[in-house]
Amino acid sequence: MTATRIDGKAIATDLRATIAIEAEKLIKETNVVPGIAVVIVGEDPASKVYVASKGKAAKECNFHSVQHTLADDVTEETLLSLIGDLNDDPAIHGILVQLPLPDHINESKVLNLIRPDKDVDGFHPINVGLLTAGERDKAMVPCTPAGSLILAKRVLGNLSGKNAVVIGRSNIVGKPMAALLLAESCTVTIAHSRTKDLPDVVRGADIVVAAVGRPQMVKGDWIKDGACVIDVGINRIDAPERGEGKTRLVGDVDYDSAAERAGSITPVPGGVGPMTIALLMANTLTAARRSAGLDDLDYASMLS
Ligand code: NDP
Repeated sequence: MTATRIDGKAIATDLRATIAIEAEKLIKETNVVPGIAVVIVGEDPASKVYVASKGKAAKECNFHSVQHTLADDVTEETLLSLIGDLNDDPAIHGILVQLPLPDHINESKVLNLIRPDKDVDGFHPINVGLLTAGERDKAMVPCTPAGSLILAKRVLGNLSGKNAVVIGRSNIVGKPMAALLLAESCTVTIAHSRTKDLPDVVRGADIVVAAVGRPQMVKGDWIKDGACVIDVGINRIDAPERGEGKTRLVGDVDYDSAAERAGSITPVPGGVGPMTIALLMANTLTAARRSAGLDDLDYASMLS
């Protein structure tokens, strides 16, 4: 079997276009312009790239978008005061603080100050609790798992009764991914670094989500025939075949061998990554719609 390649880049483009149309409608009907504020501390080059692409996506989606760039040595107090101002700003519906923050700043203190209804990253304990309690319609859901779920549903449709194995138990990806799959009535196993016989655990999965951070760890012979494989990992490895000192991005799954067994699989790059930014826009639109008293949109069902 050769797996269907799940084109996350194309699906994300489609989603952003849908969001842009829905944002226009919202503006026309309610005068509410979805607004996102991205806060970045310091000069980390990777963070700057992410923040720039978030700003670009926001503009494409017809959002009001502001960026606050703070110096590396900014005090925690100044950052907390900025978050307080953004919480109170009616033009801002989504606040995103780019991680990591410098060591002298208490990350959870900052993230926990963001108003839960503006927490478009979905990391606030209130949002974690709502998702875990099965109240997704009131929560802000973390973008990477939400995007991964759309990709899985795109190929499999109804996920009810499927065996899902999530490898990784981080608060950002693994745990919310498991909560989302459980809410879809999957039978969910969460694997991690202490899991025994991981290949055997993965062999039982109709859906595999790999969120480990270990290049090409999941091998083809771990994959059940026909399984749907969602590779969240983004790892940079040396690529001497491309020339001296060159590198390339790979996922947590050994794509070539897994594609021989899987029914469908996301590539890296071009799979989950582009969905993450698209879901950030979706969350911002959701926050803006909720502020106007409107229901959430079911983005997965609106794609072409
Ligand atoms: P973390 O480092 O926070 O978590 C990694 C998880 O993998 C941990 O739960 C860890 O287990 C588990 N793990 C580590 N080694 C093994 C192993 N040998 N066998 C089984 N499990 C193992 O990572 P994140 O969740 O933040 O990110 C995971 C990956 O996803 C990274 O490559 C990251 O770059 C990528 N990522 C991609 C995004 C995107 O937009 N596509 C967004 C966010 C992340 P334990 O808890 O026991 O230590």
